Amino acid sequence: MLQLFMPLGFLGFVYREIKSSMANIENLFDLLEREPAVRDADDARTLQVEHGRIAFEDVVFNYGDKRSIINGFSLGVEPGTRVALVGASGAGKSTLIKLLFRFYDPVAGRITIDGQDIREVTQESLRRHIAIVPQDTVLFNDSLLENVRYGNPAADDDAVREAIHAAHLDDFVSQLPEGLLTRVGERGLKLSGGEKQRVAIARAILKDAPILVFDEATSSLDSHSEQAVLSAFRDLAQRHTTLVIAHRLSTVVDADRIVVLRDGAIAESGAHGDLLSRDGEYARLWWAQQARETVPA
Ligand code: ADP
Ligand code: MG
Repeated sequence: MLQLFMPLGFLGFVYREIKSSMANIENLFDLLEREPAVRDADDARTLQVEHGRIAFEDVVFNYGDKRSIINGFSLGVEPGTRVALVGASGAGKSTLIKLLFRFYDPVAGRITIDGQDIREVTQESLRRHIAIVPQDTVLFNDSLLENVRYGNPAADDDAVREAIHAAHLDDFVSQLPEGLLTRVGERGLKLSGGEKQRVAIARAILKDAPILVFDEATSSLDSHSEQAVLSAFRDLAQRHTTLVIAHRLSTVVDADRIVVLRDGAIAESGAHGDLLSRDGEYARLWWAQQARETVPA
């Protein structure tokens, strides 16, 4: 039992530390990552984002062992567009996101945002401009209101309420015994996967960063919950440069561009219709998922 509570206690500790220093959600990843820390360059500048264009240029990466994980990956994500990364588990999708956040540096190649190499800017300014909706959202032992405010600790109650509304959480909140003041987290109300992802979307709305990363939950949501998550996410994505890691291809049908990753490189890329008619890897993934979803329960 003690073993179970230790990590939770640790998270609580991290939460208080972060809250008191007014840092943001991504720093939590920093604290929890046990990997060798990437350091700011001595002359690191502040990232300046005007448009929010992301470019991966011939990126090569491995985790320090012999196995090469990203093998010459190049991708430009135009401002305000939505690009989806799909591909088998282990293809390197999450690794690309970690590189964008600069948890690691590429072995070769570079990643730029509006033309600035992310190795030449401060990590603080880099992460301030990117909001992430993670696969598994961490909720703290606090009210729902405070859990959402976490996306931007300086936000006032009205702004938090607006974000909750925009994240399609009103119906959910209206059913809570104490509304927004209901305690959630491991010692409070347990939220479903879809509700937690909407809390993460509300946090991202409050953060209002120009670049948005959405790592779709792998565990299946019921279809009502999935629809709520998707429409909340689409509203938010309209105003941002968005990178989505999608597991359910229904999420990406209307993406501007779908990139199929295989062994750390692009196998195919294009819009949904193009990729289907090409009858390659994407078409295979698509028909396999369609078959699974129409199997009678
Ligand atoms: P995806 O998100 O597409 O499922 P990942 O980017 O998580 O794939 O992983 C790509 C490959 O890198 C996998 O083979 C995985 O085992 C390996 N990998 C991921 N994280 C680490 C790590 N911290 N150390 C060593 N290998 C890792
Ligand atoms: Mg992954």
